[in-house]
Amino acid sequence: MKKVVLHKGREKSLLRKHPWIFSGAINSTDENIELGETVHIFSANNNFLCVGAYSPHSQIRVRVWDFNQIDINKNFFEERIKSALNFRKSVIDDKKYNAYRLINSESDSLPGLIVDKYNDVLVCQFISAGAERWKQTIIEILVEQLEPTAIYERSDADVRQKEGLKPVKGMLFGKIDSGEVIIQEDNLSYIVNIFTGHKTGFYLDQRENRKIISEYSKGKTVLNCFSYTGGFGIAAAANQAEHITNIDSSDEILTIAERNFQLNKIPENKFTNLKADVFSELRKLKSEDRKFDLIILDPPKFVEGKSSLNKASRGYKDIIMLAMQLLNENGLLFTFSCSGLMTPELFNKIIADAAIDAGINFSIIDRLWQSTDHRVTTCFPESLYLKGLLVKRD
Ligand code: SAH
Repeated sequence: MKKVVLHKGREKSLLRKHPWIFSGAINSTDENIELGETVHIFSANNNFLCVGAYSPHSQIRVRVWDFNQIDINKNFFEERIKSALNFRKSVIDDKKYNAYRLINSESDSLPGLIVDKYNDVLVCQFISAGAERWKQTIIEILVEQLEPTAIYERSDADVRQKEGLKPVKGMLFGKIDSGEVIIQEDNLSYIVNIFTGHKTGFYLDQRENRKIISEYSKGKTVLNCFSYTGGFGIAAAANQAEHITNIDSSDEILTIAERNFQLNKIPENKFTNLKADVFSELRKLKSEDRKFDLIILDPPKFVEGKSSLNKASRGYKDIIMLAMQLLNENGLLFTFSCSGLMTPELFNKIIADAAIDAGINFSIIDRLWQSTDHRVTTCFPESLYLKGLLVKRD
């Protein structure tokens, strides 16, 4: 087995079971280690630390498979996948939901592997050199353990490039006629296009928040900004919201939203799908003195890297302040950030600053997170990226 030796004192994070080794922590390695090859990691004192996958092009040079000296083989992946599925069984009621995340990378001790279930189709992302190297074995196990009709790959995420891997998309197993799958969630149905949709097709991470928003929506006028294919809007309509306005900048996406409202038999007079830029539309609505009872802001990832954090913060504050000014008295604002680099503390501060600038007082009613199937283990808090706040106009 090839060997990697760390600089003195650089094993601290590994002793706390954090699964990443950065290139700067490494003192020496054996020669000619291949992309994703299994390596054994030792401290400067020659103590065994862990077994991991080597990624020669990435800043994250090794991702840990295990902290014990075990063999990495098919049996290892079988056990890991079984345990990931058991966790989902404990947190998901599969009579109500047939679409959720089955494997969440580092937090399922399978760094670089994402597997989402959309009814009987699986969508995978292999975003590390180690996961890529074991792709065929992983597919075999998924077929054996889950018997899907098809497995589709959506490894078209930018992060793959950092691992020296090209973006790829395509069928890995079985056959489906089109990219469209219909999923069920709390008696509602959603059309998901797994070939072209965002991420692996749908914002599964907002599932629990769709339910929460639905519970607050009865009799309310709802403004759903960055609506995507209508998720929050449909959940609100299902609990008798008075009217829903969805705003998104993409025609193609709004066409699916329209079909999703029809699929759930929501009367046409209950919703409006508006193609617009949220930043300018909120200003327009303000100039028209329009008001809503419940506003949702769930923008795309504004923060791409540390250098864009300030600009992104200004963007969040801008739309949050405008949304606050569009609320009726006692109105509710659900505001989210899916950027991992945006900490909950900074996000709270942005919301507080926006309220001061809007000249309105707000109370915090609830804090929201990604759904529990998007598992976050205590040793790997980086898995937590989605955060939201529900505030109420005083
Ligand atoms: N809330 C959605 C997910 C939002 S994803 C859900 O839960 O399903 C972000 C969406 O914002 C995408 O659909 C994208 O098309 C849209 N978008 C991005 N920038 C925008 C802008 N400036 N104005 C309006 N929509 C925008």
